[in-house]
Amino acid sequence: MNLLAKRAGALHLGQANHCWFLDPSKALCLKLASRTSRDATAPLIGMCDSARCPQATHHAGHRAVWASSAENKKAFIASIGRAQKSEKERLAADLARDKRVLSAIDAAARTGA
Ligand code: SF4
Repeated sequence: MNLLAKRAGALHLGQANHCWFLDPSKALCLKLASRTSRDATAPLIGMCDSARCPQATHHAGHRAVWASSAENKKAFIASIGRAQKSEKERLAADLARDKRVLSAIDAAARTGA
């Protein structure tokens, strides 16, 4: 019961991921906000970058959010002119992250994980 209570207290449910805030020193949101992990008792959801955070998990219920994000980025990339090469590269990297998350969700669905 104590272990379950500790786990449940660390779980933060989000639209795009589950955040398992078990180790503040591994929280990417805190690092991005230059916060020390010592005084952190909760994640900074507004700074969440779950595709790169080791404490995030993505599940079938999150798939639509990631698919929509990927489609939006594809549309933006297609509309960017040649002069904005760096912006195009930044969006392409973000799109690759979205695709990695989608692939992981799909792989987990196939294996029943
Ligand atoms: S970056 Fe997101 S998943 Fe990672 S600890 Fe922060 S809120 Fe949780």
